[in-house]
Amino acid sequence: MARRKKIYEGKAKILYEGTEPGTIVQYFKDDTTAFNAEKKEVIDGKGVLNNRLSEYFMTGLNTIGVPTHFIKRLNMREQLIKNCEIIPLEIIVRNFAAGSMSKRLGIEEGTQLPRPIVEYCLKDDSLGDPLVSEEHIAAFGWASPQDMDDILSLALRVNDFLSGVLYGVGIRLVDFKIEVGRVYDGDFQRLIVADEISPDSCRLWDMETGEKLDKDVFRRDLGNLADAYSEVARRLGVLPKISTPAGRPTLIN
Ligand code: UDP
Repeated sequence: MARRKKIYEGKAKILYEGTEPGTIVQYFKDDTTAFNAEKKEVIDGKGVLNNRLSEYFMTGLNTIGVPTHFIKRLNMREQLIKNCEIIPLEIIVRNFAAGSMSKRLGIEEGTQLPRPIVEYCLKDDSLGDPLVSEEHIAAFGWASPQDMDDILSLALRVNDFLSGVLYGVGIRLVDFKIEVGRVYDGDFQRLIVADEISPDSCRLWDMETGEKLDKDVFRRDLGNLADAYSEVARRLGVLPKISTPAGRPTLIN
């Protein structure tokens, strides 16, 4: 088989040139990092789960009219996506206080916020993805005011969709991060949801027990990360129900 051209390798994913113009193959690795890659581990099966979960969320978003980069899943670890120009911002939506917001503002983790709060961080690992304001974004030209309107609207639509879907399976969407990219249709340009939506980029708590089902399990050494992600996939019906001899559900195809 001809070797595909690697375009970019990040901490958790690799991008390869796609089969058709305007497409990219996104490969999900098992590599898991936290605290700006100071903590690292390879967690068996994580990439397979995130490929499936991101497919599930992005397909749902596409179906309700929130545009995303997702085209189709290719295999266990790869999906075909639209090539887009990534806006250099991490867009964080919070429904409950947690993580950096709790630290920064001294709000106890789990406190419900008066309304969803959207924050922006500059995508720059060497700076540790610093929080930035819309003033910074406009002044430095990272996105236009029109882009920011579209980004806010996308972020809130994604929040409502994900919150509802997860509520249906007893999971609280505490917060999440998305990335947004620009695609061109001739002279016309629009913004779409890009990157991934998975437990790597969301905080997901069991509604009854408060158990964490996201990357905090790894960040805070709370147990087995793949088991937590499998539980999310199982509840959403993403994980085919087959049992291994050990009784653990596993993935086919
Ligand atoms: N997040 C992410 N990538 C990042 C930073 C944050 O996916 O580089 C997600 C994180 O998983 C959480 C939300 O964004 O769901 C808010 O993260 P926070 O700012 O609280 O940062 P953390 O406490 O994770 O450092």
